[in-house]
Amino acid sequence: MPMQPAQRLSRIPPYAFAELNAAKRELVAQGADLIDLGVGDPDQPTPANVVARLIQEANQTANHRYPDYEGAPEFRAAMTEYYGRRFGVSLDPNKECVALIGSKEGLSHLIWAMVDPGDVVLVPDPAYPVYSSQTLLAGGTPYPMPLLAANDFLPDLAAIPAGVAAKAKLMFINYPNNPTSAVASLEFMAAAVAFARRHNILLCHDAAYVEMTFDGYAAPSVLQVPGAKEVAVEAYSLSKPFNMTGWRVGAMVGNAMAINALKAIKNNTDSGQFTAVQMAGVAGLQGDANAFFAHMNHIYTARRDALIQGLRSVGLHPDSPKGTFYVWCPVPDGETSAGFATKLLRQAHVIAMPGSAFGAAGEGYVRFALTVDVDLTQKAVERIGQLKV
Ligand SMILES: *Cc1c(COP(=O)(O)O)cnc(C)c1O
Repeated sequence: MPMQPAQRLSRIPPYAFAELNAAKRELVAQGADLIDLGVGDPDQPTPANVVARLIQEANQTANHRYPDYEGAPEFRAAMTEYYGRRFGVSLDPNKECVALIGSKEGLSHLIWAMVDPGDVVLVPDPAYPVYSSQTLLAGGTPYPMPLLAANDFLPDLAAIPAGVAAKAKLMFINYPNNPTSAVASLEFMAAAVAFARRHNILLCHDAAYVEMTFDGYAAPSVLQVPGAKEVAVEAYSLSKPFNMTGWRVGAMVGNAMAINALKAIKNNTDSGQFTAVQMAGVAGLQGDANAFFAHMNHIYTARRDALIQGLRSVGLHPDSPKGTFYVWCPVPDGETSAGFATKLLRQAHVIAMPGSAFGAAGEGYVRFALTVDVDLTQKAVERIGQLKV
């Protein structure tokens, strides 16, 4: 028998972004001048104080050894103090916080920590693909909760069948939301916490975009719901708000049982994030994070407005988002997500993500990321305007 990878790999669809990257590479090889509004990866630099701290900490011999596997005490303290200042949430840095090698790592390992074969995981549809792909790898069954425009892109918790809820171990929510760019009120979070409590489900709020908000709107933490820690955890990522996607640092905070289970998986898988990177994260969290977020959100607001105005002027109908750095745009009548994204790529040389790459309920949309400056955003819109849509 020839060598073969594990069967479990056949359970997951090919990584959505990988297919797009292949098509993109092909056009780049042909010398095409592409405008990339595809992957959500900030184009602006990491704050200078964070970079400076990394350089300083990289020179410390003590940091060259294995890190503390649950995260440097300074990082966990900075993280939990930040939650106190930002959300008014008090957390025990030893029991209710673990450092992550990026939140993707933590979300993935949380699934391995909580889900046995046959267990159900409630996942939004459309969603960040990792929630369902890791559930499938772990032998669990993702149950999609459609995010529909008619429900303001919030899952309809009352529509989840009792039998499904009874088998569910874990539920993911993510607001401000990737890919729909919708936001959720604290009242919705409270309803999700109540649902999790009623059905003995761990609720995981992916807060990757909690700092990326516009027009005076501030997004809540699920842990602001009274009693949330009894049933909920939250993944906080430094990647998007601090322009640190390449650095791989974040934290999982909240329910002590779940954090402990996650630590047990991590302890047997990785040996933690480089302490110097964590200390650089401390500089970000303890510096004037608010001013930096305001600066970035100002930049994204201008790009959002240019993109929304431009798309509307060429006959598309996107809503203007209050959060994330995405625009979730209905495709023209008679088009599919994949067909329209392909047209954008091949004919306009503009990269956007087909909504269907995030789940069946994403069909009918494309997602644009606000990752290029206003001038290039306008150029993208001009090219889209020349398509026959
Ligand atoms: C980008 C993203 C992440 C991953 O962030 P990292 O901390 O860089 O791993 C997690 N969730 C969502 C919804 C994202 O869009």
